[in-house]
Amino acid sequence: MQHTTALPFTLAGPTLHSGKWCELTVQPAPAHTGRQFIRRDLTLSPPLPAVADWVGSTQLSTLLEQGAVQVRTPEHLLAALVGLEIDNCEITLDQGELPILDGCALSYVAQIQRVGRVAQAGDQPVVRLLEPVSVWDGDRFVAAFPAPELRLSYGIDFPGTVMGRQWTSWVITPAIFSQELAPARTFTTLAQVEQLRARGLIQGGSLDSALVAAEDHWVGHLPHWPDEPCRHKALDLLGDLALIGAPLVAHVVAFKAGHDLHVKLAQCLRQFIQ
Ligand SMILES: [Zn+2]
Repeated sequence: MQHTTALPFTLAGPTLHSGKWCELTVQPAPAHTGRQFIRRDLTLSPPLPAVADWVGSTQLSTLLEQGAVQVRTPEHLLAALVGLEIDNCEITLDQGELPILDGCALSYVAQIQRVGRVAQAGDQPVVRLLEPVSVWDGDRFVAAFPAPELRLSYGIDFPGTVMGRQWTSWVITPAIFSQELAPARTFTTLAQVEQLRARGLIQGGSLDSALVAAEDHWVGHLPHWPDEPCRHKALDLLGDLALIGAPLVAHVVAFKAGHDLHVKLAQCLRQFIQ
């Protein structure tokens, strides 16, 4: 079965990198549409499918790009759509970057749960594996193993910060995603905040909801769970795996990875859609 949202919903707020205001609306779409973005601020904006073929850059966040149409930071919305099993929808927005909102996927989850979802006729293609598929770069990697259900396991290592080394592992169901991963907020280190500010990025008080790790303490917010940063990485991974364009049934294990490796794996896995 495929699913779409039962009704449209709209959310708005400042974006993380540019600090501009963005309003986005998620609307139901017919079976086999997939998830696609439309820039309503551009006169010519053909639908931009949320699939790995259209990833332009993975620096700091994922950027989807087709000609002059760009959509930055789609990963938290895409994670919520995958986590709550919304296969088809049209996402219109009036900026080139999605709002950061609460720094996690909770606002999206709340809206999707409020409007509900409807089943659609037509089989949903999926990705199942017969052997492992992996991508790596030095000691960083993401690997997908054959498994009977979707499970994400993630490890991070930030020596010299309060985060240290963490591992987390979750079978992804709508209930587990909503309770355990969706509330996990984006994070950074104090050193990185200073670097990015110097480059003119992360403007607009948009780190209000982020966790900021110093050497031996958290600056501002305290984490909901000791492994909240690691859970957020699993959330980002799920959002980037949405770019396969079909549900994945596999155990994905990642260590010190990021959008670059997440997207590379999504690209590799597109060939197994059936
Ligand atoms: Zn994120």
